[in-house]
Amino acid sequence: MKKRFEKRGDGLVRELENFLVALVNVRWEKGDSRAEDDAEEVLRMYKNYFPLEFVAVSDEHLAKRAREEQVVEKRYGVIASQITRQDIRSETLQKVWILTKRLRRVWNEQNPRSRDWFIFKVRDFYHGGGVDAPQLNLFEQAMEQLQKHAARARICLNRDCPAPYYLSPDFRLRTFCSPICAGPAKREAKRTWWSHHRSAAAKRNKRPRQK
Ligand SMILES: [Zn+2]
Repeated sequence: MKKRFEKRGDGLVRELENFLVALVNVRWEKGDSRAEDDAEEVLRMYKNYFPLEFVAVSDEHLAKRAREEQVVEKRYGVIASQITRQDIRSETLQKVWILTKRLRRVWNEQNPRSRDWFIFKVRDFYHGGGVDAPQLNLFEQAMEQLQKHAARARICLNRDCPAPYYLSPDFRLRTFCSPICAGPAKREAKRTWWSHHRSAAAKRNKRPRQK
C-alpha cells in the first residue's frame, strides 16, 4: 500500500516545507557572491519566521548593543566601537548562514537519531541557546514538520541544480529534485547506452560474414 501523508495538501504544511527548502539552499559558502542575496531573500520572503530578536535592527536593539559595548570597554579597556545598522544586518545574515549550515547536516545524515540531534541544534541556535522551551512560532512549526519528515530529505544528483536540497514527496528513493534535473541525466544515460551499443554493433559488422 502506498504511504500517504496526512495533510499533504495543507497550505501551511506546504509553506513550512517551502521555508525549510529555501533556508537549506541558501548558498552560504565563502566567496559565493550570491550568499547575501540568498539570505536576504529568505529573510524577506519568510519574514514571519524570524522574530525581532533574530533580525533585530530596532533602535532598542541598537541601544542595547551600545550598552553591551560600553560594558566591554569598562571591563577590558577596549575602545567600544560605534555599532551601525549595517553591522547588525551583517550579523543577521551570518546567523542565517549558520542556520543553513546546520540544516544541511540534517540533509546529509542518514541516521535518524543524529538527524534529530542536528534539528535540535538548528533550533537551539535560532533561539540563542536559552533553557526555556520556545513558543510554537512558524519556525518551530517548520522544525517539527522536518522532525517528522526528515527521512524525505534528499540531495539532487544534478551537479548544476540551483537548489539541490529538497524534500521528496514520499519515502521512495528519488535522486533528482525535479523532472527538469532528471532530464539531462536520462539523456546522458541514453547516449551512453547508444554509444555502447553502436560500438558493439560496429564490431559485429566488422566480423567477416560467414557464408
Ligand atoms: Zn535538482
